[in-house]
Amino acid sequence: MSVVDRMENRFRSLPSVDRLMSEDMIKQLRDEYPHDLLVDLIRQHLEQDRVSIALGNPCPSINEIVESVYARAQALASPNPRPVINASGVILHTNLGRAPLSQEAIAAMALVSKGYCNLEIDLDSGTRGSRNIHIEQVLCQLTGAEAALVVNNNASAVLLGLTALAKRREVIVSRGQAVEIGGGFRIPEVMKQSGAKLVEVGTTNSTYAQDFEQAIGQRTAALLRVHSSNFKIVGFAHVVTLEELVALGNRYEVPVFDDLGSGCFLDTTEFGLDPEPMVQQSISLGVGLAFFSGDKLVGGPQAGLIVGKKHLVDKLKKHPLARAVRIDKVRLAGLVSTLIPYLKGEAVNNIPVWRMISAPLDEMERRATHWAQALGDLAQVIEGESMVGGGSLPGDTLPTRLVAVGKQGKKRGQNVAQILAQRLRTQEPPVVGRLSGSILLLDPRSVLPEEDQAVLQALRSAVASLRRD
Ligand SMILES: *Cc1c(COP(=O)(O)O)cnc(C)c1O
Repeated sequence: MSVVDRMENRFRSLPSVDRLMSEDMIKQLRDEYPHDLLVDLIRQHLEQDRVSIALGNPCPSINEIVESVYARAQALASPNPRPVINASGVILHTNLGRAPLSQEAIAAMALVSKGYCNLEIDLDSGTRGSRNIHIEQVLCQLTGAEAALVVNNNASAVLLGLTALAKRREVIVSRGQAVEIGGGFRIPEVMKQSGAKLVEVGTTNSTYAQDFEQAIGQRTAALLRVHSSNFKIVGFAHVVTLEELVALGNRYEVPVFDDLGSGCFLDTTEFGLDPEPMVQQSISLGVGLAFFSGDKLVGGPQAGLIVGKKHLVDKLKKHPLARAVRIDKVRLAGLVSTLIPYLKGEAVNNIPVWRMISAPLDEMERRATHWAQALGDLAQVIEGESMVGGGSLPGDTLPTRLVAVGKQGKKRGQNVAQILAQRLRTQEPPVVGRLSGSILLLDPRSVLPEEDQAVLQALRSAVASLRRD
């Protein structure tokens, strides 16, 4: 028999679609899923089997195919994204959905999702209203700005600002701030997309006010400051302060744009952290526009917040791109409810992100000890550090206590920490820890206290599964 014939033979041992459709497990699915969908899933599976067989792998059994099609159908029709417990110790973890929301924000979002709302109607007069009016008042009150606008996220806020005010003109930025934030947000590329020309001045580590001054010309639309969200230059470095930029801007009548990234309303030094630039400071120093995220240190849903001078914000509101990047009613409601505790001076106790930042060390010690007990002799409690993340406070950490699972032996070439990490991720709800080399670290700081029971359960069941094999 030739190689090709042998291959043909092996292909022939794959069952037909009809044969698979008549299997009991697949028949069960037929009550829940349309016929065509099941046929599609089976065809896709068989196609992959053919490729795999052609590569020299054995032909799967009917049972294997049936079970795998069954699992795929269930997975396809399950809600996603679904909740996970963040025990990584990174409070604003972009891969885990950034800020957990306050009870008030969640309730407000559920309420407006349920039915209709006064999104764009003035209930007094019955005439058309603006979705931006109320949040604008709140943001102006909070930051001291003349005007405000909320859009889809901070990337679109910056894009809108540059497009509306700097297209075909120049924006001057320090070379040390022409940065990549992550997830493809690179200042030079956003600038290109907006049609503004980036004029980089200074050097990677040092930029002075006179570098900006020399670059200002007829075509200058703005001076841009970008918060170096995810890195820190140490050693010999010089940055132009926002005061200096605003003074220059005033002298030459060009606005300063401030991409704050995280956007903080509270003084982080009160929590033992480095100072994170505050939105109110940027406004009081006189920037033209400040841009920041809703779901980083603000602690709300994804959004892009823009505050600043009225004549500039007005141009953004009128630009066609504003319509393309506008925010929906659900997140708008969540954002307003997130901001209200800031107005009332109750944010630290109310916003989960700030509750996590301000949680005392002895609470971390107590919870970590409790968690470690569930792991028995596998774990110990050690001193460690939590990170705020979300493009804020680069390099800065909060002291914490960690549950550490170390290098106790290996199983099938993998160490226990890695296996346990994987088992925890596949619990329901999944628990995501932090792997540091061959040690698994679990940090209570980024876990909501009300999730502790679920963590304990996950730990017990993961350990039990380790002991079983
Ligand atoms: C995070 C960040 C952005 C992007 O904000 P999104 O809300 O994620 O779109 C832009 N600029 C800076 C400086 C950031 O830190």
